[in-house]
Amino acid sequence: MIINNSLDEVKKREKALSIIKGIVEEDGRSSLFDLTGLSGGFIASPSEISLLETYVGPAIFEEELQEVGKGHMGGEKILPLNRTSSGILATILALVSKDSYVVHYLAKLPAHPSIPRSCSLVGANYFETDVFEEFSIPENTSLVIVTGSTMDHTVIDEDEFRKVIEMAHERNIPVMVDDASGARLRTVVFNQPKACDLGADIAITSTDKLMPGPRGGLMAGREDLIDEIKVKVNQFGLEAQPPLVLAMLNGIKNFDETNLVNSFSRKDELFELLSSKFTNFKTTPTGVMITPEGLADEINAEHDLSDNDLAFVLSFILLKEHGIITIPAVSMPGASATIRFDLSTNDAFNLNLNDLCKKIESSINKLQEVVINEDECREIVF
Ligand SMILES: *Cc1c(COP(=O)(O)O)cnc(C)c1O
Repeated sequence: MIINNSLDEVKKREKALSIIKGIVEEDGRSSLFDLTGLSGGFIASPSEISLLETYVGPAIFEEELQEVGKGHMGGEKILPLNRTSSGILATILALVSKDSYVVHYLAKLPAHPSIPRSCSLVGANYFETDVFEEFSIPENTSLVIVTGSTMDHTVIDEDEFRKVIEMAHERNIPVMVDDASGARLRTVVFNQPKACDLGADIAITSTDKLMPGPRGGLMAGREDLIDEIKVKVNQFGLEAQPPLVLAMLNGIKNFDETNLVNSFSRKDELFELLSSKFTNFKTTPTGVMITPEGLADEINAEHDLSDNDLAFVLSFILLKEHGIITIPAVSMPGASATIRFDLSTNDAFNLNLNDLCKKIESSINKLQEVVINEDECREIVF
């Protein structure tokens, strides 16, 4: 095993960032292809930047974000946060008491790790399932959670979404929706309503997923609950700072649905190309992916690496040899090790899909060569 714990994951992320820095310094930004689907854009004009003072910034940009944010998310009030994870933590700190139950329905396990971690922090009993028939709400439940679109972009069925909200509301239990990518994927590609319009009490999205914004969390929902959550957010320093609020605002204003719709059709072309060489690629709504288990199935050699290790090593080969950024190399601890090639963001627009397929093929061939040598694999990652 190469990656054994959260510290290893922090270390491999540091390594990935230093490789990225090297590529930018030596060959320029245009030699990098960020296919993560998380672009972390920062759109701002000089006159806006000059207003980014501690109190002036929020006075101007937070007020405008209320309107623009409600347009994007629905709900009665908007709360900008440092990350989606911060919003999840704050909601659980505010609404969940010790020993009560939190139940979570999602289309496909696993849940984002911030959800179980926050529940364990407050001493709540946490249950999650991706089998709708097995979802139930026990006595003493303080919060019901629904994930709109999972980390690997599996989107919830709209009828099941409605039923979970109905079950919770029959018992007067609030519903929080983790709509990190779902706020755009569900609505634009799958034509589902906004989470708040489906009755969610709280919904949170990530402003760098499938939109040209910075990494940050945008929460929307019932005003009374947002106010309660906002207290925790301010007490623990989880709020978005003025620069983030400005970039979120401009990210939402510049969100272009046609990019998502175009990637929805282009991904089939990439999938066809890859499927003539490999058997385990799958489509996502806006690209293709291969899970760690699928990758293990493609490798025919004796080795001692875990399935996740294989994904980490491949992600580093893609980065080092081809400048292709995928999530496993750069992710935070506990994130999914599935390798996704997302076609919805800027770097993908001008990419020739035949070339991309060749680069992916040669990277998997390289993995096949090095996998028998664990030390060499460790060197690639660290
Ligand atoms: C990305 C993601 C999050 C967390 O977003 P951060 O910005 O990393 O905090 C939470 N839930 C889901 C489903 C996600 O995809």
